[in-house]
Amino acid sequence: MKLTNQRPQINLFDTKTRQLQPLTSSDGKSLRIYGCGPTVYRDAHVGNMRTFLLSDIVIRVAKYLGYEIKFIQNITDVGHMSEDFVEDKILAQAKAESKDPYEIARVYEARFHSDLKHLNITVANKYPKASECIDLMHDLINKLLNKNHAYVGSDNCVYFSAQSFSGYGAISGNRLDSLKPGHRFEYSEAGSKKFHADWALWKAAENRTEMIWNSPWGKGFPGWHVECSAMSLHYLDGFVDLHLGGIDLRFPHHENERAQSNCIIDKEAVAIWLHGEHLLFEGRKMAKSSNNVVLVSDLIAKKLDPLALRLCFLENRYRSQMDLSWDSLKAANQLLLRWREKISTWKSNDYVDSTESSSLISEIILDICNDLDTPRALQKLRMIEKSQTLNDGVKYEVFREIDAVFGLDLLRPASQIQSLPDHLEEMLIQRQTARSKGDYSESDRLRDLLAKNAIAVNDSKDGQTWNWIISE
Ligand code: AMP
Ligand code: ZN
Repeated sequence: MKLTNQRPQINLFDTKTRQLQPLTSSDGKSLRIYGCGPTVYRDAHVGNMRTFLLSDIVIRVAKYLGYEIKFIQNITDVGHMSEDFVEDKILAQAKAESKDPYEIARVYEARFHSDLKHLNITVANKYPKASECIDLMHDLINKLLNKNHAYVGSDNCVYFSAQSFSGYGAISGNRLDSLKPGHRFEYSEAGSKKFHADWALWKAAENRTEMIWNSPWGKGFPGWHVECSAMSLHYLDGFVDLHLGGIDLRFPHHENERAQSNCIIDKEAVAIWLHGEHLLFEGRKMAKSSNNVVLVSDLIAKKLDPLALRLCFLENRYRSQMDLSWDSLKAANQLLLRWREKISTWKSNDYVDSTESSSLISEIILDICNDLDTPRALQKLRMIEKSQTLNDGVKYEVFREIDAVFGLDLLRPASQIQSLPDHLEEMLIQRQTARSKGDYSESDRLRDLLAKNAIAVNDSKDGQTWNWIISE
């Protein structure tokens, strides 16, 4: 860290208090951060990536300032129902692809990790899967039942009693007295709820035969909201300093999660709720029905550096809707190339006035600390690039240091391509899938095949990573 004065405060806009709040470590040891992760029934699109980048920028700037980070991001592989609440998204996709639901989940989970890698998004400390945290959810539901915040319906579903939590509505403004029956709730049509805004913590299996578990209330599966309460409180030791997600998660997902978690610990469970606005593509909401879904792999296919997408996101304030287009991606790609070329020439000038570079760096870091004002920070980088008076060594130093937060690989030679060709990308995904199914002979065969293509695969508790094999 170059900052010489006292560590600056990171201020973020908290959706609940509708004010900037300082990000602080409540246990004095680390910042405990929870981000809602993907529902792994399809490829995550670049809109989802905008939300995942939000946590990355906070984490990078906090790390830069010397904080320890504990970051948990869940993988929703069960319980997230389709828009009409009729079917689990994973099961619907498994049916559509005639595959096992767990296979579907593992394939798209592997692709999610590969996308994050392409975008230089910091790896979380853990990616708990909902299907592997059923016991945690049972525990949480039991506690809520014991505290009379939940009840078992005549249909053997367990419901959260919305009226038992007086603070309901603080995040979204949707107070219970203004929510009308018929408002879109999870499982709104389920029969034995006592109040229309109650929601299912545990859903009885009824005719469902896959992705169901035994429970004290009979066979069934968890609701979507309960997984994030269970995982965040468990993996972050009972309190969350910062909770992130896309704006659509404000209600009902985060409102319901807050009710569950607060009722468990009898106080506010999350210090700051941070929500990123949505990405539009060429003027329209990114959706299958609009036929404008763009994936990270689409950028690679067009020979664009995926980090151009990162740069486009940084050019916009996270709290505003942003319209992406192929033209803006191409322009960002060009800017990355130009910066990388210039930086490699600035590097050769070795005179650095460290006072001048430190004060420029501090200014830019302060912009980022000010509710992630990355557009302003980029504007300053552009001015530094163009400056006639600044020494090249100073320019090099500023760009090098700020890249720790921006993650644009600015020191990479302009000509070096980071992305893998499609067939190798696919091979890595197949290997990850084989491993997660326990098919080790297939995963070893693919490891050998990848090695022949100069890719070394490593397995760790967080999954598979790869590196180029550099020959002497
Ligand atoms: P999902 O996989 O649908 O559960 O979404 C994963 C994350 O992406 C959630 O935090 C969503 O709020 C977020 N998200 C969904 N659509 C968009 C979008 N168009 N722009 C930005 N974030 C989005
Ligand atoms: Zn969540």
